Formats: sequence, structure tokens, C-alpha cells
Amino acid sequence: MKPHDVIVVGAGPAGSAVATLLAERGIDVVCLDRATFPRPKPCAEYLSPEAGRVLARLGVLTALRREPHERLVGMRITSPDGTAFVGRFAGNHGHRGFSNYGLALPRELLDAHLVRAAERSGAVIYEGTAVEALERDPDGTVRVRIRSGNRRESLRARLVVGADGLNSRVASWLGTVRHGTRRCIALVTHMSAVEGMTDVGEMHVARGGYVGLAPIGSGITNVAVVADVNSLPCRGTPKLLFERLLGRFPAVAERLAGGRRLTPVRGAGPFARWTSRATGDGVMLVGDAADFYDPFTGEGIYAALHGAELAAARAEQGLVTGRLAARDLAAYDRDRRKAFGGKWVLERVIAAAVATPILFNHLARRLSARAALADLLVGVAGDIVEPSRVLRPGFLWQLVW
Ligand SMILES: Cc1cc2nc3c(=O)[nH]c(=O)nc-3n(C[C@H](O)[C@H](O)[C@H](O)COP(=O)(O)OP(=O)(O)OC[C@H]3O[C@@H](n4cnc5c(N)ncnc54)[C@H](O)[C@@H]3O)c2cc1C
Repeated sequence: MKPHDVIVVGAGPAGSAVATLLAERGIDVVCLDRATFPRPKPCAEYLSPEAGRVLARLGVLTALRREPHERLVGMRITSPDGTAFVGRFAGNHGHRGFSNYGLALPRELLDAHLVRAAERSGAVIYEGTAVEALERDPDGTVRVRIRSGNRRESLRARLVVGADGLNSRVASWLGTVRHGTRRCIALVTHMSAVEGMTDVGEMHVARGGYVGLAPIGSGITNVAVVADVNSLPCRGTPKLLFERLLGRFPAVAERLAGGRRLTPVRGAGPFARWTSRATGDGVMLVGDAADFYDPFTGEGIYAALHGAELAAARAEQGLVTGRLAARDLAAYDRDRRKAFGGKWVLERVIAAAVATPILFNHLARRLSARAALADLLVGVAGDIVEPSRVLRPGFLWQLVW
């Protein structure tokens, strides 16, 4: 049988976005996901303001704004000693992005809208279909072995896009996965009646981890606890771990005490993994499959969506010219470094500060006294301000001294 042009493995934000952008250009795309949508996904569920630009391009922003959601205008960060600062996306830094706020809404809704957009644009979607293995055929195409219920078969494509998330099978097959030393897990749930929520997302840092609170519409708050695997208080179910870890955040626990848990506690991780390159012969990686470090700055969804734009542009070029070898697709690696390189550095600097309470307390004191610096930092997290604005010596000097 004739190979497909593209098989996209995974229909989360990265996969659905790539599938949409390629299918709307008339390219033959099959997109597979082992899940059936809508499905929950452990995530803090807020999007950086700039994500709205890509969602508009994909034709889903208006429909998403009709769903229950919240608009977050910035972030409030609390350090281990209780010092808090607020940064606003549209602060006094002279930068304006697509929007002054980020949307926060359940992943069930976001991801389902994105999959249906891919379908409308002409991609063929196979839900409930897991990819079990990949291999290269003698003609250079990639064979993808899939299972749907008890049925096993294989499909072939000129190009496979691995958008299969944190534990990507495609990335493992490519052999480019690298792991960091500080590995974290996350435990996430939805709660009602959390006291004191406003129009900003919150991050509370303590020794060994942090907890994020984000209102996601209909009076529901997303509660996400992230902890270093080396600092876990016990072994046990996600619920037990969640409860034990919350004990490290007494001020947050007090605000949650009158609330009700609405969903099971779901776990994710361990994370701190990236790939040495996101391309191989006839293969590209996008979203978490390519790079996942730490959700503290809350931009994985934007990286997945914008990464999909970059991948789709290079994939289309390769399919038209018939040049799909690793050396041809390497331009996509360069595009990714240009688009995300600054954020990768900043992510690592922030993760190091979060892991060092004395330093984080100091930085929080400086930022609470200098609102403009806090706005600038949160503007970078919101993808409104270029990371180079905060990675320059002058900014770092003002932060530390
Ligand atoms: C605790 C936590 C909090 C976070 N908070 C935020 C936040 O607030 N804001 C933000 O922007 N980002 C956040 N992130 C990051 C964000 O969740 C990810 O970056 C984003 O989901 C990446 O999208 P993706 O499409 O690459 O992967 P995913 O959303 O993981 O989608 C991958 C898809 O691939 C499918 N799949 C996997 N393996 C296979 C297989 N073998 N066969 C078929 N299908 C397969 C899965 O079913 C899934 O649907 C958070 C992450 C965590 C862990």
C-alpha cells in the first residue's frame, strides 16, 4: 500500500497542531493517539498569553473562549520564607504580545478542541490507537506498528512526527533522549472552594518542590504539587503523596481545607528530559517528546503549539522537495534553538533557584520591592518579552544586589 505523507504520533496540543497545519495545506496526514478524547492530562492548565496567537491560527480560540475558563493577568510567587511578589504579563516593560492575559481551562476541553480542529482540516484521526514500535523499511519510509484494542496492524509514512509526550516512544526509537540529574514528579487535582483565588496564577515554593494554584473557571482551582523524587516523604498512591507533600505548604493547605477534591489525584513524571536533536531520517519530534524540563514557568503548551508551527513549516518543505533526510530536517533543530534557546537557559536558571531556598528567598525579596523587574520576568514566562531582556548582566545584577 502507498505510504502516507505523514503519521503524527500523539494528538495532544503538539500533535493536533502539526496535523492541522499540514492537513490544511492538502497534505495526507494520519494522527494517532492511544487515548480517546476528551481525556484528562496532569497539567497546571494555564496557557501563556502568546499561546492565544497559535490557538487563533488553528481556529479554536473563539470556541475556547466560550468554554468555562479564567483569564490570568500574571503570576504571584511565594518563596519558602513567605515573601511574595506579583508579576503581570502586560506590565510596565513596553512589550505587548497577542494578549494581556493567559487563558486557564481544563485540558479535557483544550485538547478535545484541538483534535477536532485537526479532523476538520482533513487529518484522519485514530483515537484509542497506541503506537507499539517503529522500524525503517528498505525504501526509507518509516513503518509504525499500532494496536487498537486487540487489533494489530502497521502503517507507513514518508515522515513520522513524534508528538507523543514526555515518555515518547518515537524519541526513544530515535535514540536522542537525555535525562537531567534533578528529576521531579507532579501530582495534580481539581478542587472547589479554594480560598483567596484571584486573577493571577500562584506558585508557592518550599524546600524540595513547589505547588501551583490556578483558577480554571466554574469556581474550580487546579492544584499541582511538584517535588524532587529524592525528597519524597514516602511511597504510596498519588493521593497519599499529594496529601503528605501539601503538608510542606501549611499556608496553602489552610486555603484548601474548606474545599472539595473534584477529580482523582493524577501523577506525571519523572521529568527533566530533553533530546540532543529533534530530527532523524524521516522523523521529527515536537512538544514534550522533544523537550520537557520543568513546568514552573508554565509554557509547555505554548512550546508545543509554536514548536508545531516550526515543525509543520519544515515538514511541508521536505515533503514538497522530497528531502526528508536528517541533514535536511536539521533546519528544524536550528529553528527550535532560535525560538526556544533563551527560554531553555532561563528555565534551568529558575529551576536552580527553586532548588536553593536561600537564593530564592533573596530573589523574592528583591522582586517584591521592584515590581518592574517582576513584570519583566513574568513577561518572559508569558512569551511576551524576549528572554535576552532578563539574561543580560544588568538585569541579573539588579536581581542579586
Ligand atoms: C504538573 C505539570 C504541570 C504543567 N503545567 C503547565 C501549564 O500550566 N502550562 C503549560 O503550558 N504547560 C504545562 N505543563 C506542560 C504541558 O502539560 C506539556 O508541555 C504539554 O502537554 C505538551 O503537549 P504535547 O502535545 O507535547 O504532549 P501531551 O499533551 O502529553 O500529548 C501527548 C499525547 O501522546 C499520546 N501518546 C503517548 N504515547 C503514545 C503512543 N505510544 N501511541 C499513541 N499515542 C501516544 C498521549 O495519549 C497524549 O495524548 C505542565 C506539565 C506538568 C507535568
